[in-house]
Amino acid sequence: MYDLIVIGGGSGGVRAARIASQYGAKVALIESYRMGGTCVIRGCVPKKLMVYASRFPIEFEEAVGFGWRVSGASFDWSDLKSRRDQEVSRLEAIYRQNLETAGVDIYEGSARLISATEVAVGQGQTISGNTILIATGATPVTDTQIKGHELCIDSNDFFLLEKQPKRVLVQGAGYIALELACVLQNLGSAVHVAYRGNKLLRGFDTDLQNHLEQELAQSGLVLHPSTKISEVRSSPQGLMVSFDDGNVMEVDAVLKAIGRKPRVDGLGLEVVGIDLDSAGAIPVDEHSRTRVPNIYAVGDVTNRVNLTPMAIREGHAFADTVFGGRTVTVDHSLVPTAVFTTPEMGTVGLTEDQALARFPELDVYTAHFRPMKATLSGHHAKMFMKLLVDRKTDLVVGFHAIGPDTGEMAQLIGVALQAKATKSMLDATLAVHPTAAEELVTMR
Ligand code: FAD
Ligand code: NDP
Repeated sequence: MYDLIVIGGGSGGVRAARIASQYGAKVALIESYRMGGTCVIRGCVPKKLMVYASRFPIEFEEAVGFGWRVSGASFDWSDLKSRRDQEVSRLEAIYRQNLETAGVDIYEGSARLISATEVAVGQGQTISGNTILIATGATPVTDTQIKGHELCIDSNDFFLLEKQPKRVLVQGAGYIALELACVLQNLGSAVHVAYRGNKLLRGFDTDLQNHLEQELAQSGLVLHPSTKISEVRSSPQGLMVSFDDGNVMEVDAVLKAIGRKPRVDGLGLEVVGIDLDSAGAIPVDEHSRTRVPNIYAVGDVTNRVNLTPMAIREGHAFADTVFGGRTVTVDHSLVPTAVFTTPEMGTVGLTEDQALARFPELDVYTAHFRPMKATLSGHHAKMFMKLLVDRKTDLVVGFHAIGPDTGEMAQLIGVALQAKATKSMLDATLAVHPTAAEELVTMR
């Protein structure tokens, strides 16, 4: 009998298993695919490596303005893929090793609940545990309404592509759609992005949405707002896509990135009486406990904030609370995040609209400038930064930025917001010169 059975070896599950084991619990972890989960195997990590690869052509162009002549540069997709895959496998092995070192028993196979204390692994084996943690993540949404949807690829398939598709239609305007669209575009593919709304990145600050839209259009990526796909069919040269408005387009690949849904199929939740919420997620309380007292859930399967650091934080808090003898809750409200488009975006705290609704006396500080590097390189990109400050308390309540390294900035200003920094504190901080981040402490 285990003290804890963790279902899912991704960001949340691995952290919870290791920490619970360190507290002395006897822990089993079941993984059906590859250790490390979405982030390591087909999410954040391989994505960021592709982002790095995709930014070199811009560097080569910019280098000319600094006296460099870069000739004969060429790109080999399969070489990048094989190096990236090797790195992913290296990380996967480290995840496994760390679990083994922590004394966690690893089971390979698909887990299914048989009762509130028993889990079947694959076809044959059943293991028992006093506590069960579900950390099965999420999976790309498929729009089966569209004729020919099976000809499209999703983000999982993207990381398996052996050849670079030269003409690509991306559907969606969220994180994944735009990050992968930029990667492909900067690596030389002709990329169109079709989305049903009229704004990119729903939920982000309007100024960032608008700035990103302009920058992407300038970089050559073709945006198609308020556009729906009606049919995809094979054509002699690739795929023929028909849109609701009657337009057609021929491409080599259609990449659908229209959201992700909690991964609960085949888990046997009905056996233990766990119902799903309207988004198909497992409802939990502030301690990540489901309605069944000994069954918990963390990460994307609970659809709270679907980011790796949050899954890790939830997994850790669960282990602290249930096995570490100290109750820890997770704050889901102040979440620094980056979108690794090119240009990238970093944000933390409230958007201007949200801030105005809560703090009618809002001071909005903005900076819009040409990065120093662009003065010689001539690159078109501009940087934009915004700080939102509640005039009454002087508290900084939001930060939004777009341009090089703004993801890194979001991490640091996130510390300031977490520490309840006021605008006066930022003003009192000496600038690091010359940097783009110095705008944070010089905006008046
Ligand atoms: P996962 O990491 O998905 O792990 C769940 C694991 O459970 C998987 O390994 C799965 O195989 C396993 N599993 C599922 N069902 C079963 C079963 N029945 N039995 C056994 N095992 C099972 N987040 C960021 O913070 N930054 C980023 O830059 C970022 N980029 C992303 C890029 C892409 C393309 C994608 C798809 C996601 C990205 N994310 C990013 C989101 C991030 O990957 C997820 O939020 C995070 O991985 C969630 O962790 P998790 O533990 O909840 O689930
Ligand atoms: P998002 O929720 O970010 O975006 C989904 C997109 O698909 C939106 O543009 C949405 O449009 C559109 N859409 C949804 N349903 C349909 C439909 N039926 N038909 C057409 N379009 C549709 O999801 P992603 O899949 O991009 O990413 C999932 C999550 O993974 C993110 O929210 C984020 O939490 C995480 N992630 C984080 C990253 C990072 O930290 N850098 C990178 C990648 C993923 P609309 O806006 O109109 O609803």
